[in-house]
Amino acid sequence: MNNEPENNNSAIDNAAAPAAAPVTVIGLGLMGQALAAAFLRAGHPTTVWNRTAAKAGQLVADGARLAPTVGDALAAAPLTIVCLTDYDAVRELLGASEVALDGTTLVNLTSGDSAQAREAARWAGERGARYLDGAIMAVPTAIGTADAVILHSGPAADFETHEATLAALGTVTHLGADHGLASLYDVAGLAMMWSVLNAWLQGTALLRTVGVDATTFAPFARQIAAGVAEWLPGQAEQIDKGSFPAEESSLETHARAMAHMVQESEAAGVNAELPKLIQAMAARSIAAGHGAEEYPVLIEEFSRPSDG
Ligand code: NAP
Repeated sequence: MNNEPENNNSAIDNAAAPAAAPVTVIGLGLMGQALAAAFLRAGHPTTVWNRTAAKAGQLVADGARLAPTVGDALAAAPLTIVCLTDYDAVRELLGASEVALDGTTLVNLTSGDSAQAREAARWAGERGARYLDGAIMAVPTAIGTADAVILHSGPAADFETHEATLAALGTVTHLGADHGLASLYDVAGLAMMWSVLNAWLQGTALLRTVGVDATTFAPFARQIAAGVAEWLPGQAEQIDKGSFPAEESSLETHARAMAHMVQESEAAGVNAELPKLIQAMAARSIAAGHGAEEYPVLIEEFSRPSDG
C-alpha cells in the first residue's frame, strides 16, 4: 500500500484565498487559541467555544464569534476543529445527549493514541458525523506558518473537502484512510525526536566528564545526526525488502563499538542504561544469526514485543 503523504504547505498562500469558509473551533487552551487565531488571520469566519468562556476574549476582540453552547458552535459551520486535553474530554463534551453531531465534519486535533482515534471515528460515525483524526507536530506559536506540520487521517474525500480551510493552520498532510495513522505517525515522530535527544545527552554526559561542554559538542553532534539521517532511505529499502546484506558495516562491527560505549560510560561514571539497552538488542540479533548483516536487521528486534 502506498501511504505517501500528500502535502499542502500553502498556509501562507491561503491567507489570500477568497470566500474563506466558516469554521468552528472547540477548545481554547493554548493550542486551540492558536488554531482559532490562524483561521481568523486567514479570513475564515470563526466561531469558538470553550468551557471557560473567558479564554475567548482576545479571539472575540479579533473578530471571532463566541457561541453560547457547544451545540450552537457545532451548528455554526460545516467544519469543527476540536482541540481538548484528551479523548475523554472530547467524549464527555460531545457525547452529551443535547449535542447533535449529525451532518457535521469533526477534525479532532486532540492528542491521543491510534486506538482512541479509531474508537472516536466509530463513535462519531454512529452519531452521524464525518470524522478526521489529526495530530499537531508543532507548538502554538508556529500555527499558521508552514513550519506547523499537522497530520490527518480518515476518509480522503473529507480531507479534500476541507483541505483549503485546514491549510490556514500550517502544512497539512493526509496520511490515509485508517483513522489511527495520524496518532501513529505522531508517536513515530516522537520516537525519532527522543532517540536523537537521548543520544545527544548520552554523548554530552560522557564529554562533560573531561571538561568538554555541551556547546563545544553541539556542532559535532549535529553533524553526526544529519549524516545518519542521510542513511535512512537506503536502510528503508533493506527493511522493505527484508534483506540486509552488509554493504557498509556488519552488526558485529557495530556491536564491538557498542561495547566501547558501555565501557566508557561505566568508567566515566555516567549512566550506562541506554548503551546497555542498545547493546543487548544487538546481542540478541547476533545470537539469532544476524551478526554478518547490516544494522537495519535490528528491525526484527524492534518488531517483536519487548517481553516476548
Ligand atoms: P490546554 O492549554 O491545557 O487546554 C486544554 C483545553 O481542553 C482547554 O480548552 C480546556 O478547557 C479543555 N478541556 C479539558 N477538559 C475538558 C472537558 N472535560 N470539557 C471541556 N473542555 C475541556 O492544552 P493545549 O496545549 O491547548 O493542548 C490541547 C491539545 O493539543 C492536547 O491534546 C495537546 O496534547 C495537543 N497539543 C498541544 C501542543 C502544545 O504545544 N500546546 C502541541 C501539540 C499538540 P478550559 O479552558 O475550560 O480548561
